[in-house]
Amino acid sequence: MKNIKDYNLDELKQEMINIGEKQYRAEQIFKWLYIDKVEKFEEMTNLSIELRKKLEENYTICNYKILKKQESKDGTKKYLFDVLDGNAIETVLMSYHHGYSICVSTQIGCKMGCKFCASTGINFIRNLSSGEIVEQILKVEQDAQVKISNVVFMGIGEPLDNYDNVVTSIRIINNPKGLNIGARHISISTSGLVPKIYKLAEENIQCTLSISLHATNNEKRSKMMPINKTYPIEELIKACKDYIKMTNRRISFEYALAKDNNDNLEDAKELVKLLKGMLCHVNLIPINKIENGKFDKSSNENIIKFRDFLNDHGIVATIRRELGSDIDAACGQLRRKNIKNN
Ligand code: SAH
Repeated sequence: MKNIKDYNLDELKQEMINIGEKQYRAEQIFKWLYIDKVEKFEEMTNLSIELRKKLEENYTICNYKILKKQESKDGTKKYLFDVLDGNAIETVLMSYHHGYSICVSTQIGCKMGCKFCASTGINFIRNLSSGEIVEQILKVEQDAQVKISNVVFMGIGEPLDNYDNVVTSIRIINNPKGLNIGARHISISTSGLVPKIYKLAEENIQCTLSISLHATNNEKRSKMMPINKTYPIEELIKACKDYIKMTNRRISFEYALAKDNNDNLEDAKELVKLLKGMLCHVNLIPINKIENGKFDKSSNENIIKFRDFLNDHGIVATIRRELGSDIDAACGQLRRKNIKNN
């Protein structure tokens, strides 16, 4: 059965026409789903009983069950959801002074194989549909009784490897008749799938693009991120420059600092050279060591020195606050688990 939340508003209008209904029904359904947030078609009381029945027979309203919820000392919450086919995904809710931010997963497993990431080493199972991505927001809002103001596509999976579903989910999240979260409050993070960066530039979505850079030369980056062998740094940086030209949007570069690997001042110097003159921002992440991982966290002193060097040389850099590390919910700690081994 089709998931009614897999459609953005335009697609739902077309779907209504396809099943012999008036297209304004789509707006009514959208309002029920994303503003009133009902969980059953029978609650959509301004639709005729026949239409409600037709919807009931032909579509599901994806409705996750919470398998597990953990809360960190800092208020961060990690959810494990049953996605209704025997698989489970993780989603994280973070509280900042400017509001609530959610980190959503886009795939069950990941193909990228980044050496420092906990999602690595687990088989890729499948893409999440757009409705399954959106549902993470709805369920967390409902459970935590909060209104989410920021969405980051930084959970499990490579968002640009599930391009169409991710873009559709953004259109639902961003639509004023949908979840109505401003595009500037939505960030997509990628390990650097160059052709998809160009595609995204043409979508006319004003969301923030984050690039997981982590190293400044191919030798080092390929050792951390195998995807670099397919799309090396020169191609990636060129795509970023073109993206900025095409969209006029600032890019955010993620740089996870690992001790004696990419955290000395020589690396900082190379990073300045690489990014000089670009409309960008660098987000420094203290790397989280994963089980049996070979990358250790840099010292606080090194992280601060690294940041100061960048700032002193014209690159705006900040250190990402670490949230949820005590419940394995900080950057790179999410790991797909299935119901059986959980
Ligand atoms: N696949 C996407 C999004 C998921 S990862 C991407 O690669 O961007 C979200 C961010 O967390 C990325 O910047 C990723 O490189 C970073 N990350 C992964 N593992 C990490 C770890 N162990 N410590 C710190 N950051 C990590």
